[in-house]
Amino acid sequence: MKVLFVGDGQLGQMLGASGISHGHECLLYSTRTQEVKPLSAHVSLPWSLADAIEWADVVSWEHEAIPADVIAAAHDKFLMDPARIKSLTDRRAEKKLFDDCRVGTSPWQSYGTVSELEKLLSKAEQPLVLKAARGGYDGKGQWRFRPGDDVSALAAEAGKEPGIAEHMIPFHKEVSLVGARGKDGSVCCYPLITNVHTQGILSYSLGGIDDVPDALQQQAEEAFHRLTTALNYVGVFAIEFFVVGEGKDAALLINEVAPRVHNSGHWTMSGANCSQFDLHMRALTGMPFPQLHIEPTLMLNVIGAQQIPVGLWHHQDAQCHWYNKEPRPGRKVGHVNIRTANLATAKTWVKQWRERLQVLA
Ligand code: ATP
Ligand code: MG
Ligand code: MG
Repeated sequence: MKVLFVGDGQLGQMLGASGISHGHECLLYSTRTQEVKPLSAHVSLPWSLADAIEWADVVSWEHEAIPADVIAAAHDKFLMDPARIKSLTDRRAEKKLFDDCRVGTSPWQSYGTVSELEKLLSKAEQPLVLKAARGGYDGKGQWRFRPGDDVSALAAEAGKEPGIAEHMIPFHKEVSLVGARGKDGSVCCYPLITNVHTQGILSYSLGGIDDVPDALQQQAEEAFHRLTTALNYVGVFAIEFFVVGEGKDAALLINEVAPRVHNSGHWTMSGANCSQFDLHMRALTGMPFPQLHIEPTLMLNVIGAQQIPVGLWHHQDAQCHWYNKEPRPGRKVGHVNIRTANLATAKTWVKQWRERLQVLA
C-alpha cells in the first residue's frame, strides 16, 4: 500500500519505519516546510503535495493539526473525517466531546476574553487549571489558579487567548490507554500505562509493570469505545486519565486525548509483540489485530540531553532511540526502553538515569 503521513517528526518517522517493515511505501509531508519526504529509497523526488496525495492509497497523520489544504485535497484518501480530528486541536471541542460521550472529565468552562476570565476567576471557589484552547503541549499554555490569587494579573496574561478553566484534580496518579480501532470497528488496547510528568512533560512511562485493577482497565476501555465510535475513528488513539482515589475507590477522569500514536505508547516498541506503530499500520491497511503479548517495560524520555550515554546503548536490557533533533532544554530528543522485572527495578533505573537523560527548562 502507498501511505502518506501528515507530519515528519519522530512519530511520523517511527510510523513510516513500521509501514516499510510491513511492505508498504511511505511518504511524510512536513507541515512546517511543506516538503514531501520519502522514506523508501526507491521513491524518487521531488514531489508536490498534490502529487503525493494522488500517489497515496491512504493518508494518515502523526499530529492532529492537519492543514486545511491537505483536508480539502485528500478528503477521499482519509479513512475517516479529518475535520473531526482537526477539531480536537481545540480544547473546547475536545471537552465537549467528553461531555457528549458521557465520559467523566474535570468540570470545565470556556472563556473568550480577559473580562470573561476575570469574572470566572472572581467567582471561583476551588483551584483551577487554565489552558489555552489551542496550541498547548508539554504543559505549555497553562496557568494554575487558587482562590485568593491576583485575579486581574492572571486574567490579563491567560485571557489573551480563548481557553478553558477546569477544576484542578488532586489525582493519585496519571495513566493512559493506548489502543487502536479498525475499519470494521474492532478494538485492541494495551494495558493501562502509568505516566509520571515533570514540569508538565512526560518523564517516564511504565508499560505492563504497574498493577492496574481490572475495573479501571474496563472503565478506560469503555471510554475508548465511546470516543472512537463517536468519531468513527480508524487507527491508534490515546487517552490520558487522572486516577482519583485509591484501591477499591479508584476511578478515572479523562484529562485529554491524542487522536494518533502517543509518547506514552513508545514502550510497546520493545515491550509488546505488536508496537503502537505496527498497530496503527494494521488499522490503516485492514489487517486483523493480534493477540497482544506484553513484557514489562520502562520508557524513559530523553529530554534536552546532548546524547544518550554509551552505557545505555550497550546495555542488554536497554533499547535506545535518538530522534536526530537539536537538543534544547525541555525538548524531547529520544527515548530509552528498558526491560524491567518489576516496579522496584524500574524505580531503580529511573533513579539512576533520569537526571542524566533529562534537561528541563
Ligand atoms: P501533552 O504534552 O500531554 O499533550 P498538554 O500540554 O496538552 O500535555 P495536559 O496533559 O493537559 O497538557 O497537562 C499536562 C499535565 O499537567 C498533566 O499531565 C497533569 O500532570 C497536569 N494537569 C493538567 N490538567 C490538570 C488538572 N485539571 N488537574 C491537575 N493536574 C493537571
Ligand atoms: Mg496535550
Ligand atoms: Mg497531556
